[in-house]
Order: sequence, then structure tokens, then C-alpha cells
Amino acid sequence: MNLQEAIAALQRLDELSCAYGHAMSTLSVDGETAAPKQSWRGRGSTMAFLAGEMYRGMSRPENREAIAVILQQRDACEHAVVRRAEEFRDRLEEMLLFTAEEYAAYEELVNESQAIWHDAKQRGDYASFAPWLEKLIEHERLFARRKDPSRDPYDVLLDVYEKGACQAKLDPFFDLLREKLTPVIRAVADRPAPRTDFLRRSYPIAQQRVFSDRLMALMGIDRERCAIAETEHPFTDGANKWDVRITTHYYEHDVASSMYSVIHEGGHALYELGVADEWQFTCLGTGSTMGIHESQSRFYENLIGRSEPFCRVAFGILRELFPEQTADVTEEEFYRGVNLAVPSLIRTEADELTYPMHILVRYEMEKRMIAGDVTVAELPALWAELYRKYLGVTVPNDREGILQDSHWSGGAFGYFPSYALGSAYGVQMLEAMERETDVWGAVARGDLSPVTRWLGEHIHQYGRLKTPEELLRSAQVDPFLPEKYVAYLTDKFSALYGL
Ligand SMILES: [Zn+2]
Repeated sequence: MNLQEAIAALQRLDELSCAYGHAMSTLSVDGETAAPKQSWRGRGSTMAFLAGEMYRGMSRPENREAIAVILQQRDACEHAVVRRAEEFRDRLEEMLLFTAEEYAAYEELVNESQAIWHDAKQRGDYASFAPWLEKLIEHERLFARRKDPSRDPYDVLLDVYEKGACQAKLDPFFDLLREKLTPVIRAVADRPAPRTDFLRRSYPIAQQRVFSDRLMALMGIDRERCAIAETEHPFTDGANKWDVRITTHYYEHDVASSMYSVIHEGGHALYELGVADEWQFTCLGTGSTMGIHESQSRFYENLIGRSEPFCRVAFGILRELFPEQTADVTEEEFYRGVNLAVPSLIRTEADELTYPMHILVRYEMEKRMIAGDVTVAELPALWAELYRKYLGVTVPNDREGILQDSHWSGGAFGYFPSYALGSAYGVQMLEAMERETDVWGAVARGDLSPVTRWLGEHIHQYGRLKTPEELLRSAQVDPFLPEKYVAYLTDKFSALYGL
């Protein structure tokens, strides 16, 4: 096979992988949103069939040969072609750890596990999910063992979501967060809490849907290319830049919950919407890593969404849509209210300061699960113990405990650290952005376009072409310095609480 033939084969491989990926992600989004509850039974076999066909199509010997030819002659190729070949080399290496039958069976397992988890969460019934969780953990351990038996299995999994991530790097990061933030969390607890009563008033869901539309408009999200739906657990799915889906969950008596879910998922959506046309329908047409993806969502959610200038603008919209509920509230009270820092049970609703502790709990849980140090039956008790240890709260039930997140039911073990890494990356991106742009002047005017433009130019457009290190370097962001994240949180909450 010559180089031209190899590049043509790579093109066909991208087409095949994108088409199957598109079909399967659309089925999965449909399953989470519009499809009736029992639909998972039929979807499981369809997903397994498609996964098996994708496996057979992708793993054909000529594809592997094409990748080898391109990588041997990398100097004669465009950088993007090399990156695509590397990406498929890694994907095929992971795929071929399993037979086509095993690969398809896993797809079916995940589909079923998600349905079982969904039901178990609603009923707060961990026992009904436990056997599925056990199978998923077993699969992860098997994957890690087959991929690299010489490495610690959890390190192998961390690397899937953030290339290069491992416990030797993450342990000091989480130690730093725990050591530096715990005293701040304690000091905040001794100060009077801001008022939040108005956030718990009745906000009819039909009107909250209008609020979501207004927030998406404020963020500059193109609704012709991005739809919103409602699910148990908010998420974003981007098939390509012309079809991005976000979801949220409404609570009548908690208007901030959906507000910040929409802004968070909107941040993911802007990333997917902003990947350059030339990477669409290739394996580079999505985010660089999950850490970088979460840096974008958490950037909008917190650095922008929970800033004083943004809160003033958002409160203006809220007051217009809910005049009665907000009649006795000031902009200042709204800003302080949505920044209430208090140890709590639910990660997705946690404030910025205590949020890293929620991730720490999951990191510790995953370490022990994957090491096999704890049985599946013991996990809820371990969850409760770690929430007591790191957040000082008592977990009243599994619905608000171990069943709250969808990640494990979807087979995502090793994903959670991406949220903490992303939050830290975001603080450093903001610093670079502030050097080039009047961020806060624009946000105060309700104009987020300079923010999205900066992120679009330095992060979004590249998709998966660049690694996190390359993105940070080319955007003139310092190498990863988590001390800056700690300093940002300490300064912000010292000012809010008068420490
Ligand atoms: Zn996210």
C-alpha cells in the first residue's frame, strides 16, 4: 500500500467510524430523552449489532496497514493526517483487546446498565444496580489488564480520558486541593450564610424552559445546530457541529439547578459547535480530552456564570421572567445566593469551593474499586464514609449518594478527575484571556462573544488536533499550575465571606 492509498483508506475509516458513532449516539440520546422507558430492550440488541459491525469494519487488516504506512512516512504527511492515524492506532489498539463478540456484548451491557441505573436511582434502590456495577467494574479491570498488565489498572483508565493522567500526578493535585481548601471551607462555615430563600420559591417549569432559552441566547448558542431536552442527569452529545444536544433537569423549587446545568452543558456545546469545519466527520471533530472539555463547561458555569457581572445580567432576565419570585431580591443578593458555599450531597449542584471535594470522593472510590479493595456491596458505606470525611455531611440515602451520577452506569471509570483538572485549566485560560480582552466589561454588557471568540480561536477550533499541553502553549497559557486554581477559589470566597 502506498501513501496515497493509505490516506484514502484513512479517509474511509473516518467515514465509517463517524457514521456508526453518529447512529449510535443518536440512538443513545433518543433513549435518554424521547424514547419510552422499555425501549432499552430493543435498543440493546441494535446497539450491540452496530458495535459489532463497527468493530469488524474498523479492524480490517487494510486499515491497520494504512495506519502503519502513514506513521512510517509521517514526515511526508500533513500534521492532521498523522494525528488522525495516531488517533485510530490508539482506538484500534483498545478495540482489539476484545473480540467482536465481547465488544458488542459490552455495548449491550452499558445500554442495559444505564436503564437499570436510571430506575434504581429513581427508587433509591442500590441493590438492583449493584450486579450491573459489578460487571462494569470487572470489564474495566479486564480492559486495564489486557491493555497494559505492567501498569496499575486505574492509571490505565485515567489515561483514557486525559492522556498522561495517572495517580502519581493526580495524588499531589488532590492533596493540594484538600490541604489548601479545607481551611477555607471551615472558615466559610463560621461566617453568616447569604440568603438563598428566594432560590427555593416556586419557579414553574414551563417558565424555567423559557429561562433556558434566554440563557442559551445569552451564551450565543446557535439553536439551529443545538437542541435542548430534559433528562435525569444533564449531559451534552455532539454528533458533529450541526447536531449538538444538551439536556437539563428542572426542579420547581430550585431555579439555580437547571440554570447552572444549562450554562455548564452550554459550555460543552459551544466547544462542539466551534470545532473547525475541516475536522468534521473525522476523529478530530470533538474535544481534545475530557479535561479540556470540562474546562470549557466549567469555564462558563463558574468563572463566567458565577461571576458578579454575569450574575447581574442573568438576574435581569430572571426578574423579567419571574417578577413575583424576585420582587424582594437585589442583584447583590442573587450573586451571593448562587455562590453559597456549603458542604452538600449533590456534585452537580455544589458550589465552586466545595466541588473539588466531591471529585476527591469519587477519585478515592474509583481507586479502591479498580484495585479490588472493596466489594460492590460495600460501596455505599464507603461513599458515606468519604462524604463524612471530606465534606462533613451525612448521606441519607443512595439516591442522593452513590446513585446520583450517571458516569459509572455508562462505563466511565476514571472520568471524574477531568472535572477538577478542567476547573484548574479554566482559571489559567481566564488569566490569559484577561491579558488580551476586556472580559468583564463585555460580560457586564451581557456580551459573551469576546469570551467565546477567545476560546474558539485558542481551543474550540482545533478539536482533537492538539493535546492539552499544545493547546495551553499555543494560547500562551502557563503550563498546568493548580496553585492558581487554589488561589482563585481562596480569593473569591475570602471576598464573598469577608475572611
Ligand atoms: Zn461536563
